[in-house]
Amino acid sequence: MKILRNESLKKHTSFRIGGPADYFSVPGTIEELRRLLVFAAGNRLPLAVMGAGTNLLALDKGFHGLVIKLAGGLDRLTVRGSVVQAGAGLPLSKLLKSLAGRGLTGLEFLAGIPGTVGGAAVMNAGAWGKELGRYIDRIKVLDRHGELSVLKKGQLGFGYRKSNLQNGRYIVAEVVFRLRRGRPRRIKGRFKGFLARRKASQPLGCPNAGSIFKNPKGKFAGRLLEEAGCKGVRVGDAQVSAKHANFIVNLGEARARDVIKLMTRMQNSVKKRCKVRLEPELKIMVQSSLT
Ligand SMILES: Cc1cc2nc3c(=O)[nH]c(=O)nc-3n(C[C@H](O)[C@H](O)[C@H](O)COP(=O)(O)OP(=O)(O)OC[C@H]3O[C@@H](n4cnc5c(N)ncnc54)[C@H](O)[C@@H]3O)c2cc1C
Repeated sequence: MKILRNESLKKHTSFRIGGPADYFSVPGTIEELRRLLVFAAGNRLPLAVMGAGTNLLALDKGFHGLVIKLAGGLDRLTVRGSVVQAGAGLPLSKLLKSLAGRGLTGLEFLAGIPGTVGGAAVMNAGAWGKELGRYIDRIKVLDRHGELSVLKKGQLGFGYRKSNLQNGRYIVAEVVFRLRRGRPRRIKGRFKGFLARRKASQPLGCPNAGSIFKNPKGKFAGRLLEEAGCKGVRVGDAQVSAKHANFIVNLGEARARDVIKLMTRMQNSVKKRCKVRLEPELKIMVQSSLT
């Protein structure tokens, strides 16, 4: 397992933004992950964990410490009946394809959401009124010292784009789902339907990080942002998408500070016009992550 020095985080986030990480590594197994955690703890290195970086803003100054990327490794999939055990690094797209082929249904609503199984569990990713947490039975985690434990559903605190896993205490290594049996053809049909709806509404051409703000109760953040006149507003190369006002796109050389400035403008516009405070869904890789 390699530990890279000064690795640009730009290469590892869907936003294509971010300075260098002092140390950067992609573990292939739980044992390698454990060794990295022991290395960071032993050297008192600040620690940040990421999946595919599709909901993440890395800062322009990068990260002074160790960034562990759980994507491109830790991607084993084991299926026993309707119980599915997936490594945190498994891409959601591969999971869905495999489930459809095996006639296991439930997760089709995730079609088109990029990212990993681990990142999706932490974020309780969802779409079309459904959330991943509902299908999770338990999660294998490591703490910052590399100690392994299993958290049951009741301990995970799933809510709207929320879970107890966001408190930074744990690193997700493996997720166990409980699904139902279905007909592969029907599952594939539903998958395609969800994908088509997504393609029609989201700006998939430019680098972005998905929805920037959570939907306030009973409202859509995108609609509020549109009403507040945010579409097309730009700071540097960061621009509010003309297709979906809750997306920021990177027109080329956007920096994290442009995105943060634009987010503040968007929040202020909505506060002024609609008297609602938007809460970010996007996660920022701050220096204190997991330290
Ligand atoms: C075009 C586009 C569309 C999107 N649409 C949706 C959507 O419809 N619904 C939705 O919910 N999301 C959506 N997203 C956001 C994103 O894809 C999901 O939140 C995804 O689940 C994040 O997974 P990731 O692996 O990229 O996580 P990352 O972005 O890498 O990380 C997200 C957070 O989880 C933490 N994390 C990641 N992996 C681990 C781990 N193994 N252990 C501990 N912490 C971890 C990180 O520290 C970070 O705080 C979209 C994004 C894009 C770019």
